[in-house]
Formats: sequence, C-alpha cells, structure tokens
Amino acid sequence: MKLLGIESTAHTASVGVVDEEARVLSCATDMYRPPQGGIHPREAANHHAEVFPGLLEKALSDARIDASDLSGVAFSQGPGLGPCLRAGATVARTLVQAWELPLLPVNHCVAHLEIARIMSGFEDPVLLYASGGNTQVIAYGHGRYRVLGETLDLGVGNFLDKLALGLGATFPGGPVLERWAKEGNPRYELPYSVHGMDVSFSGLFTAARTLLNRGAPREDVAASVEVTAYSMLCEVAERALAHLGRSELVLGGGVACNRRLRAMVEGMARARGIRVYAPPPALCVDNGAMIAWTGTLVNGTGGAVPLSESAVDPRQRTDQVTAPWRVRLAGGAVPPGRP
Ligand code: AMP
Ligand code: MG
Repeated sequence: MKLLGIESTAHTASVGVVDEEARVLSCATDMYRPPQGGIHPREAANHHAEVFPGLLEKALSDARIDASDLSGVAFSQGPGLGPCLRAGATVARTLVQAWELPLLPVNHCVAHLEIARIMSGFEDPVLLYASGGNTQVIAYGHGRYRVLGETLDLGVGNFLDKLALGLGATFPGGPVLERWAKEGNPRYELPYSVHGMDVSFSGLFTAARTLLNRGAPREDVAASVEVTAYSMLCEVAERALAHLGRSELVLGGGVACNRRLRAMVEGMARARGIRVYAPPPALCVDNGAMIAWTGTLVNGTGGAVPLSESAVDPRQRTDQVTAPWRVRLAGGAVPPGRP
C-alpha cells in the first residue's frame, strides 16, 4: 500500500510517497524564497500552485509508481496560512476525483510527530516541535495529541528569521544565523522567558536588536541568541518529560536542523537518561512524506472524508483532531475518527 502526501502549510510545497512500512519512496520539495522580507501568503500560494504539477510528476517517477499504485491522497488540513493550505488542498481534491481514491486530512503538527515516532521506533515520545510558525511541546494523551506548552508570541524560526532579515539576510534566516553563531562567543546575557511549559521570544528579540543597534558583533549576538532560545526549548521539553514520566523525546520542525539545538537537547537527554531522536533534516522541515505517512494512519482508522468535509483550517489545533491509531495500538477502544 502506498500513499501520496501533499504539504503546503507555509513556504514549502512538497509531495511525498511512502509505503505501509513508512519507507519514504520519494519526497519532492520546493521552497518559496521571497527576494526580500518575510513570506507573503498569497505569493507563496501562487508559487505552490505553479510548482505542484512538476513536484507531483517527480514524486511519482522517483517512487517508480503511477496513480494506480496509490491507496489514497493525504493533505495538510492545518494549521497554516489560508491561501497556501488551499493551494495544496485543491491539488489533493483534484487528484482523488480523477483517481477515485480516499481523501485524507492530516494535522500538520501531528505529522511532524508521527514521522519522527516511526523513524525512531519510540513508542510514546514527547515532540519538541520547533519550526517557523510553530513552537510547541506535544505528547499523546487520551485519544489525542495534546499541546503541553507553546510559544506565547513568535515561533522560534520566525524569531530567528526576523533577526537575520534585519541584518540583511534573506529568508530563511535561521541557517544564516547558525553560520554567524558558529563564529561567535555567546557572551551576552539575554532575556530568558519560560512560563511553565510556555516560552516567549519577543523580549529576546528586542534585546538582541538593541545590542545590534549599539554595534555588538552579529556573531556574538547570534551565538548568545541561540544559546538563550535553545536553553528555553530544552527546559520546557525537559519539564514535559518529567511531568509525564516519559523517557523518549523526538525533534521536528526546521529549527530542529540546527546543530547547537540538537547538541543541547542531546546533552539534556543524557543527563536525564532519556532517549532522543531527530529525523534527517529533509524530514524535519515541512515535507510531503510526513503527510503521506500520517495519512496512512488516518486511512487505517477510517478517517477519509468526502470533498464536502475537506475544508482547510488555518487555525486547526493539535488537540482538535483525534489520533485513533494510537488508542488501537494501546489495545483500547477506537474513538470516532474525527471530532
Ligand atoms: P519549517 O517551518 O518547519 O519548515 O522550518 C522552517 C524554519 O526553520 C525557518 O524559520 C528557518 O529559518 C528555520 N531553520 C531551518 N534550518 C535551520 C537551522 N539550521 N538553524 C536554525 N533555524 C533553521
Ligand atoms: Mg512544520
């Protein structure tokens, strides 16, 4: 059984194919990179609509399959930017009508967790999801994935992007900042903002900008920003693990590509005696393969929807959708497919 997944929540258009054992047969991705500034949702959506036909062709040919080999088409239903989500959902609806296949809505945040869970082999991990628009600590409980903590303002990636863009970098700024940080000394003490299991980055942003405006070297500011922001993320992930008594942590989201974050999380994990897994960078960033794999789980528990119920939901919360495949794995009753 093979499934096709379509991702288009924000800057990335991606089409992936996986099989029933979560082997990634293909993943064709094209990221919208604005010439300057941040993402304009409409322009990103236009980009996605333009590249989807080519990505689809590439995903099928890389996987060496055609439509008749597929058992369903999954798409990111939310959360994300409305115009971008609609571009992907429109492709998915068109394909299921033409190919007469089930249409499988997937929550984007749950997909980050599920691809990391299957690749790690962990049973019941906590996810530290650190991406552009989202920063959350997520874990399973009572039929759904629950958000234990999250950012109260900017996503950590958006925060890094904004800081780097202010210094003349183009989007995405996180990797640029990482290169600067490697050359720098984390010598500045910056606002550290953790509230229970929530974090906030706006104070850190203002303080870093003020330092830069006063002529502080960007390398040292970048290194100090990384150490501060990633310490905050480690602290809330650790608190979630302790609170739930869990011993497995997975990473997801584009910021999880960052070497310093990975090293700091690994250090915390060693100290706590827990296991940690970060997917390869291509599966940390937004990608169609994670949507295809989560679509496989949705399909296996009766979660296909008619076209009339396939509207995208830009504000869809992680705990708004059920995860009946997890209940079945735990040996309990299967709750209704979707709320
Ligand atoms: P996503 O939204 O999950 O696809 O992730 C995109 C975000 O990840 C953007 O904000 C990027 O700047 C950020 N990002 C990607 N690679 C890195 C990196 N190596 N270090 C820090 N941030 C990164
Ligand atoms: Mg994401």
